[in-house]
Amino acid sequence: VESQRISRPVKKAAFTYVVPEPVKEPKLLAIAEKAAKEILCLDINNWSEEHKAKFLEVVSGNRIAEGTFPWSHCYGGHQFGFFVGQLGDGRVISLFEAINAENERWELQLKGVGKTPFSRAADGLAVLRSSIREFLCSEAMAALGVPTSRVLSIVHTPKRMVQREILETGSIVCRLSPSWIRFGSFEIFFYRMERKQSRALADFVVEEVYGYKALETSDQKYGNRFGRLFNEISRRTAKMVAYWQAVGFCHGVMNTDNMSILGLTIDYGPFAFLDIYDPNWICNHSDYEGRYSFRNQPTACIWNLLKLSHTLQELIGAEDEVDKQWFLDGNYPYDNDDDDKPSKKNEIIQRGKEIIDLILGEFQEVFLEEYENIMIKKLGFNTLQSTDLENIITPLLNLLATHLIDYHHFFRTLCSFRTTSSDFPLNSLQNLLKKSRNLEQALSDFNSWFEIYRQRLSSEGSDDVNRSIRMKQINPKFVLRNWVAEEVIEKTEKGDKEVLRRVLKMCENPYKEWGADAGEFQQEEAYFCGDVPVWGLGIQCSCSS
Ligand code: AMP
Ligand code: MG
Ligand code: MG
Repeated sequence: VESQRISRPVKKAAFTYVVPEPVKEPKLLAIAEKAAKEILCLDINNWSEEHKAKFLEVVSGNRIAEGTFPWSHCYGGHQFGFFVGQLGDGRVISLFEAINAENERWELQLKGVGKTPFSRAADGLAVLRSSIREFLCSEAMAALGVPTSRVLSIVHTPKRMVQREILETGSIVCRLSPSWIRFGSFEIFFYRMERKQSRALADFVVEEVYGYKALETSDQKYGNRFGRLFNEISRRTAKMVAYWQAVGFCHGVMNTDNMSILGLTIDYGPFAFLDIYDPNWICNHSDYEGRYSFRNQPTACIWNLLKLSHTLQELIGAEDEVDKQWFLDGNYPYDNDDDDKPSKKNEIIQRGKEIIDLILGEFQEVFLEEYENIMIKKLGFNTLQSTDLENIITPLLNLLATHLIDYHHFFRTLCSFRTTSSDFPLNSLQNLLKKSRNLEQALSDFNSWFEIYRQRLSSEGSDDVNRSIRMKQINPKFVLRNWVAEEVIEKTEKGDKEVLRRVLKMCENPYKEWGADAGEFQQEEAYFCGDVPVWGLGIQCSCSS
């Protein structure tokens, strides 16, 4: 077992078997109750102490369930624009796949359980800080309706010290996704010219991850199963990033190894939710050029999809099994010496390129449609009008940026807008506009926008009461801002056992007004939903985790 953990390049394989490194005295910090119930049908409230102890053994990597064979997935990727070869997964071990009552397949993995053959020079561990961030944000994003991986549990390992900038203690997150395959999983085979593995992986994703039936229904114009697969990945990615832009989420490290082939948000690192609306916001302080700034996220997705498309191009262009066999063999018969006629190989590549261009050409449309649909819900409209983006959404975003307005507070405040009263905007806005450099200008700008907004609402006969209720179901009261995560981390590190669970509850219920029955929790809720403290504005994180 020990020898399995030794770092070594593993060629021609997408994974290798490896077991977690046992750890002394792990402490269960929290279980994501909602995910446990919704995904794995686990009712943790009915567990006996014995049951809990067994659970802890599994999610800390100390017990391998009978009949399971943990493995680690090997992938590569483009990091900040450059292909870096094999880089992942140096610190994640998958335990098993579970099939739930809905017949969905979920892969459970542990992050931070020691070295794998892919760890290179690193230690295979994760610190409490980064684990808390991934744990909370996965559930926060799910509750906001964003496609995302999920989590099951977080374990603290006070006896396992981890060296980062300072010495910290370790932590293990158990996380869940229907698949953890990434763009970089395809890239590693492509750049090594391991063609059989490329084909096997593509077939696996078509047949086992998406299911051939799911792709069968998609339009013929996308070509064979691989074209349809790429189309599906592209669409899902467009929808995912539309959500990011609408909920004000900045991922921070959109390298191709962090892009899920299911279009899910994965690998939460130096992410951030926006505080003030700043399209140029860079949440990762190692991202010197702003490659992954908030506004660049959709473009980064297209760039990443283009990289993925290169790995699939010949398969997409292959018309039949004979073509695909040539793909496997890697040597295309040059079926004519006549320069005027393209060779078979060029024909395949050309056909692949045309389909890829078609699919990527549709990205923007899919993205915008999804984005506009979320935004009109945030604004409380019943239907999307073709002029909404130009007349309402874009001018509003410009105003928020110009006057440094908090994105989430603005939309939550807007839930109380009344078409019948001109009183609202000024009163509520005064508070939000405190930081504006020019309050008078801001008020006047917003009043003009409110006039257009009011007319737009009136034109569809909007009812103030119902609209307010609807808007409060999509504009969160609670947002997992970086300063909130920081507080949870600091308090948990100091031994507070409650704050993580409470903030998890808030992540799971972002729209909820806890009200008077929340007791003591009410104060905490008001605090974490309130103004960003000065120290907490615009916190950036690094990749070191
Ligand atoms: P990230 O930028 O966090 O997505 O990390 C890129 C890759 O580096 C991941 O696939 C990890 O497997 C690997 N990695 C990051 N941190 C560690 C670590 N402490 N030990 C081993 N591998 C790591
Ligand atoms: Mg990663
Ligand atoms: Mg990471």
